[in-house]
Amino acid sequence: MSSPSAEQILSEVFGYSDFRGEQQKIVEHVSSGGDALVLMPTGGGKSLCYQIPALLRQGVTIVVSPLIALMQDQVETLKQLDVQAEFLNSSLDARAAREVSSRLMNGELKLLYVAPERLLTEGFLNLLERLQARESLALFAIDEAHCVSQWGHDFRPEYRELIVLHQRFPSVPRIALTATADAPTRAEIIERLALENARQFIASFDRPNICYRVAIKSNPRQQLQAFLEAEHANDAGIVYCLSRKKVEETAIWLQARGWKALPYHAGLDNATRNQYQRRFLREEGVIMVATVAFGMGIDKPNVRFVVHLDLPKSMESYYQETGRAGRDGLPATAWMIYSLGDVVAMRQMLNSGDASEDRKRIERQKLDALLGFCESTACRHQTVLRYFGEVHPGNCGQCDNCLRPADTWDATEAVRMALSCVYRTGQRFGAGHLIDVLRGKMTPQVERFSHQQLSTFGIGKALTQQQWSSVFRQIVAGGLLQVEMEAYGGLNLTEEARPILRGEKKVWLRQDRETIKHTTSHAERASRTREAFAAANEDPLWQALKAMRMQLAREQGVPPYVIFHDSTLLEIFHQRPGNLTELGCISGVGQAKLARYGNQFLKVVEEAMCDGIR
Ligand code: ADP
Ligand code: ZN
Repeated sequence: MSSPSAEQILSEVFGYSDFRGEQQKIVEHVSSGGDALVLMPTGGGKSLCYQIPALLRQGVTIVVSPLIALMQDQVETLKQLDVQAEFLNSSLDARAAREVSSRLMNGELKLLYVAPERLLTEGFLNLLERLQARESLALFAIDEAHCVSQWGHDFRPEYRELIVLHQRFPSVPRIALTATADAPTRAEIIERLALENARQFIASFDRPNICYRVAIKSNPRQQLQAFLEAEHANDAGIVYCLSRKKVEETAIWLQARGWKALPYHAGLDNATRNQYQRRFLREEGVIMVATVAFGMGIDKPNVRFVVHLDLPKSMESYYQETGRAGRDGLPATAWMIYSLGDVVAMRQMLNSGDASEDRKRIERQKLDALLGFCESTACRHQTVLRYFGEVHPGNCGQCDNCLRPADTWDATEAVRMALSCVYRTGQRFGAGHLIDVLRGKMTPQVERFSHQQLSTFGIGKALTQQQWSSVFRQIVAGGLLQVEMEAYGGLNLTEEARPILRGEKKVWLRQDRETIKHTTSHAERASRTREAFAAANEDPLWQALKAMRMQLAREQGVPPYVIFHDSTLLEIFHQRPGNLTELGCISGVGQAKLARYGNQFLKVVEEAMCDGIR
């Protein structure tokens, strides 16, 4: 019997017709015994890079994975494909764990997922040595390899000890995988895991199916509601907020309006958190309102949107958090709103913490890069990738700036008025008061400080309150004004304000769009998600296909996407296969799933067609 090729496994087991990007090269390299370091964005298809070699090589592949939920998901998915896979972690009782170990030793497993702390026990390493003596160790796959980095927020000390795999099993190939792109992390992975001789595969970190949009916050809840209604009425998504309190309040507010929203933050007890996470994974259309505590290890492929009601801390965080949308490659939206108040609050938070001065400086720079991104009028995909050192040609057609180029205006005069008003009032007031002075409004505060006597009082009547607010937001974000360290968030001038005050430099600012109008008109243009599902959502066949998927998922206690992904279901909907052969040609339908579910889904299609004829 000749052994199958990588292509055969791809199509027969996984049901896919082509490799993506560098997958094929990686599979070939690792299958023939080479070490590899794979950097690929979320949703890029990292799992196949070790799963196919696992099926090609003799013996068992050990996959190190940091999260229990992630392991369970992967193992369930593999079992659906009739691949012999199990996991070993603290969620198993002693008896179940012994059972898995004995199957491992009997050579019955192709893949075993283990938590790092379990792998590192002497007992487990001894098992591995016995397997190795029988030449039954195929491969080590180290998933989420960035966990070795103590600078990242996913740091797992045990990950550093994984170097023992290299020391004790030097002839077993290793593949380390991560979606963390930056060069320092990469260097740390190589050093900590002794992967100096591994071949590096670095994919593009572009996420072309995510439409990035940034808007100005006016009435956040109304804006959120309008966004959800117009674009994601039936979809699963994540809404990020900065504080626990805001998470709770926003979730309750959404629930009261009939949305299936759940809160998630570190202040909830474990059981509640797990239950909500489970519901997010297993039910359809759940909105998770969460702090950043929610996210890592969320492998749900059909998260259709990620909303930021508050600014993330850095471009890295923004990329990572928005990256949880659209793993399945279908259109998804990253939508963020922010205001001048947010910028001031973030700056103040950074200044007032008790981190070292060095640390604060780095964090300020990171926040500035993010604010620069927010205010930028350039292609968002290009701006995000440039931050990570990658070149993108721009004009993506999948971001707000490309879909509706922002207008800019020569704001030099307005900015000079604003800066001079800051100076004349003594560099200690916030934007609210400064705008009152510029617009010549008599308020108790103006009176108290006699600011009506200043030369800048009332010189800015030509601009509306909102326009001034936009000017201040942009010049604070752009670094012409800084937020006072202590207390009230007063604004003062920076060095960079000088040439502008002296009339040596011009300033162009972006024209804010009317926020509410903006949301709706955007919705009309950019709801690609809705388009993708448009024909489907109203159709009884689509509903019936989804109901069948849900029924099968419930029967087996797995998330619906483990049965079929949305993309596969959508293709069934469009192709309407009439027999098993036709169904088997659809991407994502391999032999095992065809045998298991083929007839049930064919019947759903057939019944709907008959109803249609009648
Ligand atoms: P990552 O771990 O890199 O985030 P996954 O391995 O979970 O990504 O893959 C993301 C999705 O893409 C999965 O649903 C997977 O089944 C699908 N996928 C991966 N490779 C291919 C391929 N060659 N053809 C079609 N779909 C693929
Ligand atoms: Zn663009």
